[in-house]
Amino acid sequence: MCPLQAIFFDFDGVLLDTEPVHCACWAEVLAPAGLPLTWEYYRDHCIGIDDRDMLRTMARQADPPRDWDSLWALYPAKKQLFQARMTAPPFEPSLAGMLAGLHRQFKLAVVSSSSCTEIEPLLVAGGIWQHFDTIVGGGDVNRHKPAPDPYLLAAARLGVETALVLEDSAAGIASGRAAGFEVLIVRHPSELAGLLRQRLG
Ligand SMILES: [Mg+2]
Repeated sequence: MCPLQAIFFDFDGVLLDTEPVHCACWAEVLAPAGLPLTWEYYRDHCIGIDDRDMLRTMARQADPPRDWDSLWALYPAKKQLFQARMTAPPFEPSLAGMLAGLHRQFKLAVVSSSSCTEIEPLLVAGGIWQHFDTIVGGGDVNRHKPAPDPYLLAAARLGVETALVLEDSAAGIASGRAAGFEVLIVRHPSELAGLLRQRLG
């Protein structure tokens, strides 16, 4: 078997516990538009999904159905709320040291359905941006997770054939496997270091 060349990290729910914050911000901007969003609905239908796909589904399921564009117009307000609540992103204290160690041995990437403009300021604020060789965001591919495209793009950018993927969502796990990579399932960012230690020795 080829030796492992790279480690690809999903962002939301793997590097940082952001999903409850994303949900709260979307709920806040969607409520005045008459679309309630609960954590239960978000957890079961929206995690790991590109924001545009999430809003298309919500617009279609609304009673009466809504115009998708009118919901996407709320994205800048949601993004601003999210950034305001994430000025000091609560990364795991051990993360920076762990990434520095891994980067001596492997190429590293973040592969997310979130926009790079949402992710990168958080990586910079957390002091970990420099450990990643590339960042694939939702705007970089036409077909989002669960399609393999985001992970295949990361591999192409880094010129690697083997990679270990860390994912928390069903769509993300399916995406990593469809790209032909081994996937470790992360239930919370606090598990990350232990899972990697166990897998890599
Ligand atoms: Mg995730």
